[in-house]
Parts: sequence; C-alpha cells; structure tokens
Amino acid sequence: MTRIAIVGGAGRMGQTLARGLGALDDMEVVALVDPHEPAELGGARYEAIIEGLGAHDVDVVVDFSVAASVVRSARWCAEHGVALVVGTTGLSDGDRAELAAAGERTGVVVAANFAIGAVLAERFAAWAAPYFERAEVIELHHDAKVDAPSGTSIATARAIAAARRAAGRGPIVDTTTNWTLANSRGADAGDGVRVHSVRLPGLVAHQEILFGGPGEGLIIRHDSYDRASFVPGVALAIRTMDRRGGLVEGLATLLA
Ligand code: NAD
Repeated sequence: MTRIAIVGGAGRMGQTLARGLGALDDMEVVALVDPHEPAELGGARYEAIIEGLGAHDVDVVVDFSVAASVVRSARWCAEHGVALVVGTTGLSDGDRAELAAAGERTGVVVAANFAIGAVLAERFAAWAAPYFERAEVIELHHDAKVDAPSGTSIATARAIAAARRAAGRGPIVDTTTNWTLANSRGADAGDGVRVHSVRLPGLVAHQEILFGGPGEGLIIRHDSYDRASFVPGVALAIRTMDRRGGLVEGLATLLA
C-alpha cells in the first residue's frame, strides 16, 4: 500500500486526487496539506503545512497547489527521502532547479499535464509530423483560464517542429499574405507550427492537432471533460517512478 500526502489538498485538484487515488486498491491518502481546511478529508489527516507530516508515515507527496509552495515540498521531500510528484504549473527556473536538486536525493516527477490521453496525443502528433506538409494546433479551454496559449499546446507544437526537423523537413511557410484581421493565423510556436486559442464557458481542456497534405488530412483530438482525467496519470507516475532518486520531467517518459 502506497501512503500519499496531497499538498494543495483543499483545492479543486487536491480534492479530486484525494477521491480518485483513495479509491485505488494499492494507494491510501493519509494526509491533506493546505493552509485551508479541506471540505472533504475522506479519512485522511489534515495538516496546514508540510512540516507537520511525519516522514515515516508517507511514501509519496503529490503537490497540486501553487508554485510558491513547490520549493517547500521539494526541500521537505529531499530532506526526508520521500518521493515527490508535482503537477503544479507556473514553475520558475528557480523552482525547477530546486526540483532537480531534490531529484539527487529522492525520486521526483514533474509534469504540466497528467492526462494520459493528452500525452499520447502529443506522441502521436510527433509520429505523424514528418508525413504532412502542414500542421496547426487548436487548444480550447474554459473562459477562466488566464494564460494563452496553453502550455500543452506549446509543447505539442514544439514536438511537431522537432519531429519535422529530425526528418529533414524545413519550417512550414505560411502563404497567407492578405491579413484582414490581425492575428487571424494564430501564433507561430516555432518552425511555422501555428497555435490557436479558444476560450468558452462550459469547456474544460481540449486540443486538436490538424495535419494536411496532398488530398488528405488527419485530426488528433484530446478532451479532458473533468479533473478526474488527471488521476490515472498521477497514479501511473506514483506506480512507475523510481522513488529512490532522479528527476523525471513529463509523463511521456514513464509511458511504456
Ligand atoms: P486551486 O486553487 O483549486 O487549489 C490550490 C490549493 O493550493 C488551494 O487549496 C490553496 O489553499 C493551496 N495552497 C496554497 N498555498 C499552499 C501551500 N503553501 N501549501 C499547501 N497548499 C497550498 O487550484 P487547482 O485547480 O486545484 O490547481 C492546482 C494546481 O494544479 C495549479 O497549478 C494547476 O495549474 C495545476 N494543475 C495541473 C494539472 C496537471 O495535469 N499537471 C492539471 C490540473 C491542474
């Protein structure tokens, strides 16, 4: 049985993870860490700060909180040899350096997208990329998202560009010359792979990757309908990571 503490345990993801991971046969959520008391504890202990945890009571810390708390989790986990899985986004280079330092003393996984389907979609896109003349990415999110385009869409566009380069294909050249509305062709994320952002109420997190070649097209689409979509990827990370040491960036590395 893997014993888990969730940092950010009162948040939307923390509560979803507590329910989802707690329902698995091989995992037990033993503690929720958050400055705010969680609405649901589900049998877990509540701690306001990570230092309140007993290092011998926890095997893995899962951090879905705010960027400012990730360094604290990294330091605590490194000091006590407890493995760390980080889904919190908006990390600075300094935060990443702390995670790398923690990875020298304990196992660390950090990924900006734990939806397995999204990770696979990026992999499929890189596979398809060299075979089509053009590729564009459309990402669609709820209207409360403050940043655009999504980090996942930038990563996908860059994976497409890298796969094209590796296959000896040059950058995509946009032949549009008459722009009647500014930015109507989206943003170039590198080598001419364009990204378009849609924001609408009712959406969660969605992405379409569109390829076009002579007489044919291919669309790869992924949908996160609910925060529950991130639970299997977190469970996969917990089960497959090397808890003794090393930093893993991105879930793709852990997918066979
Ligand atoms: P949220 O605002 O609902 O929850 C964040 C929680 O963190 C809050 O309860 C807050 O009180 C808590 N918190 C703040 N400071 C803390 C500290 N020092 N220690 C412990 N807890 C602290 O946000 P959310 O929607 O649950 O998202 C949380 C994070 O997870 C965000 O960075 C989000 O972008 C990220 N996220 C990542 C993925 C992924 O697949 N990697 C998926 C969804 C969300």
